[in-house]
Amino acid sequence: MLQFKLVLLGDSSVGKSSIVHRFVKDSFDEFRESTIGAAFLSQTIKLENEPDVTIKFEIWDTAGQERYKSLAPMYYRNANAALVVYDVTQADSLAKARSWVEELKSKVSDKDLVICLVGNKVDLCEDGSEPKAVEKEDAESYAAEHGLLFHEVSAKSGSGVSAVFQQIGSKLYAQK
Ligand code: GDP
Repeated sequence: MLQFKLVLLGDSSVGKSSIVHRFVKDSFDEFRESTIGAAFLSQTIKLENEPDVTIKFEIWDTAGQERYKSLAPMYYRNANAALVVYDVTQADSLAKARSWVEELKSKVSDKDLVICLVGNKVDLCEDGSEPKAVEKEDAESYAAEHGLLFHEVSAKSGSGVSAVFQQIGSKLYAQK
């Protein structure tokens, strides 16, 4: 079994904890309390394209609040992968995600760090309750320019969440 450390970064309330919860417990809880500082969880997957390969993710979910920002380097320093999350209904949250990507690129020397840009809450646009503030094509081309993986997901419906971890797992396995 291969083990990799993965960190979640992004503005507060974009849905980082909900994505982890969906991935680890396959459920969604609208009223879960927000993360203070950081939370640790782990989850094991089998790669769909390499069924003999099992990967254990050690997941560090960091709090997005400004007052915890100085703690983030402690979590991303030895990370193998980072999920940088924004909310597709909040344009500001993509700007924040981009600043996290820049920080990772400037502070993490590991050239193999896998970064995945994740646009969450697509369910709100699909059911018409919120307009889409970030176009998929814009986020996708930013990701391509910077060598990032990219997915749109919904922690609420579960759409796209397992694909994020499958793709990160495959990339980590391929470059091991
Ligand atoms: P975090 O601060 O980034 O960890 O965000 P949370 O996971 O605590 O989520 C913030 C709020 O957004 C909560 O009220 C969640 O219920 C809600 N939320 C998270 N993900 C989704 C999603 O995919 N769809 C919808 N509709 N709401 C979501």
